[in-house]
Amino acid sequence: MKQHDKFLNDQFKAGTHLPLIDRFYTLQGEGAFAGEAAYFIRVGGCDIGCHWCDEKISWNPAQHKSVSIDKIIENLKNLKGKTLVVTGGEPSLYNLSVLTKKAHNIGFNTHVETSGAYTLTGKWDWVCLSPKPQSMPLIENFEKASELKVIIFNKEDIAWAEECSNKVSKNCKLFLQPEWSRHEENTGLIVDYIKENPKWRISIQSHKFMKIP
Ligand code: SF4
Repeated sequence: MKQHDKFLNDQFKAGTHLPLIDRFYTLQGEGAFAGEAAYFIRVGGCDIGCHWCDEKISWNPAQHKSVSIDKIIENLKNLKGKTLVVTGGEPSLYNLSVLTKKAHNIGFNTHVETSGAYTLTGKWDWVCLSPKPQSMPLIENFEKASELKVIIFNKEDIAWAEECSNKVSKNCKLFLQPEWSRHEENTGLIVDYIKENPKWRISIQSHKFMKIP
């Protein structure tokens, strides 16, 4: 198991609290569940260091408020949508077992969006693996992936996406997603590629076009 203790205080280790950047009820914008209602929590803390990251504010967990799992669960109880999406930052830095158990207890599906760089804790109904070349996912996380979503910043990333697709299970859904700042250049490239390689689908960050969180 990789070590990442610098991110963890005793409450984070126990899984009773998480440092949250944000939490909100919205529509999932991208990937296999695009368009569906979901409650998002964005967990602070990430050491992956993508140069194009649009959430650099997330990197230092000390800048984000520690919130109890009980408080998060309380916020879910009156929602009509029954999907909890945990994203970041990098969720696999943290103990997520208490969160997923309590979310399941009130009838929620649990989805996580992760680079897969660390051991993934908790019980997940859907694992969206978004691998980053500078900090490859653990092999066990490739195997857990329900969905592989590779961000395409330049055309070389497509060859790397193919390498990653050889490591996931045969039922895993495969997505290529244009990096937001270059979506105008890269969408056409991805469309042409998928027409020749139809095992892939395109994922568009539709929430950014809709200007919703
Ligand atoms: S893994 Fe996500 S949060 Fe971390 S640097 Fe990359 S894009 Fe940003």
